[in-house]
Amino acid sequence: MEDREISDILIHWYEGNKRDLPWRKTSDPYLIWISEIILQQTRVVQGLEYFNRFTERFPNVAALAGADEDEVMKYWQGLGYYSRARNLHAAARQIMNDFGGVFPRTREEVLSLRGIGDYTAAAICSFAYRLSYAAVDGNVFRVLARLFDIDLPIDGGEGKKYFTALAQSLLDERRPDLFNQAMMEFGALQCVPKSPDCESCPLNGKCLGLSARRVERLPVKNGKTVVKPRYFNYLYVHGQGMTLLSKRMGNDIWRNLYEFPLIETERAVTWEELSGMVVFQELFDGIENIEIVREYVAKKHVLSHRVIFPVFYEIRIDSFSRSMGKYLKVPDDRVGEYAVSRLIQSYLEVRDGLLF
Ligand code: SF4
Repeated sequence: MEDREISDILIHWYEGNKRDLPWRKTSDPYLIWISEIILQQTRVVQGLEYFNRFTERFPNVAALAGADEDEVMKYWQGLGYYSRARNLHAAARQIMNDFGGVFPRTREEVLSLRGIGDYTAAAICSFAYRLSYAAVDGNVFRVLARLFDIDLPIDGGEGKKYFTALAQSLLDERRPDLFNQAMMEFGALQCVPKSPDCESCPLNGKCLGLSARRVERLPVKNGKTVVKPRYFNYLYVHGQGMTLLSKRMGNDIWRNLYEFPLIETERAVTWEELSGMVVFQELFDGIENIEIVREYVAKKHVLSHRVIFPVFYEIRIDSFSRSMGKYLKVPDDRVGEYAVSRLIQSYLEVRDGLLF
């Protein structure tokens, strides 16, 4: 099968089927970069909304670099995978410091930015500068595995190298931007993960996976991700018009997002067990009136490598203990201004709707 022929068919298909998306109408590397980072792990419909809001507030590298990290996180709230936002912010500052505020133009320089790997560098360089680098995302892996009937695992080192080289060999060097977009859109809309409509596919006469009847079994993946359970007991403590919050630090999920005081336990615990713990007693040491307003067992919260079993205890107090000094005291009506995880956000929504 002629490489050029496949690429021509894909581009022709793309021109008739592509979705109308703002980042496809620009060659501004900054906007392309933001869209690519947002679209990692995020569906296009949801990503579009965030893209518009984010780029309206931070229209260029300088605006993003000059912003406070808390504000950047707030604009990212609800999207998940928050290291993406932290990296965007850090990379914007890198561009200001190391590249005089001008978005770098070579693949090596683009790759030197925080949070940018091979795929994103290839996407930016091909879309913004029309450089000939194949951008291989999950959609492209799937299309290639099926089209060429390849059962090398796509999540292993060998498979990654192989598929990247294959995509590179198919790339139409006259129009690398269109080729990459076409491949990805084809995977997203036509050669979809489950039950693709092969009958209507313009490549069905050339698809080796289809003729071998192996479409549903491709691509092949190595192992399953181990998902670890975690038990989060949140204490929504408020009194005198103030609510306690803290910023998550350390190398863990939701770093730099805000949350209520948290006691994490090895297993699910009852209120009696929790309130008997030393850490709990120390927190409330010296407070006379503690009123447990409500207990709310939220639905389990599934992340890529973790499943969180959250319980929220709303606790009203009439004074603050000394050990609460390590928390932020935020006026009750300003809690919504802080960037929080989707889990905390849903709790606040439930609380506001009094749907306990
Ligand atoms: S024929 Fe089916 S499996 Fe093959 S490329 Fe087309 S949609 Fe994908």
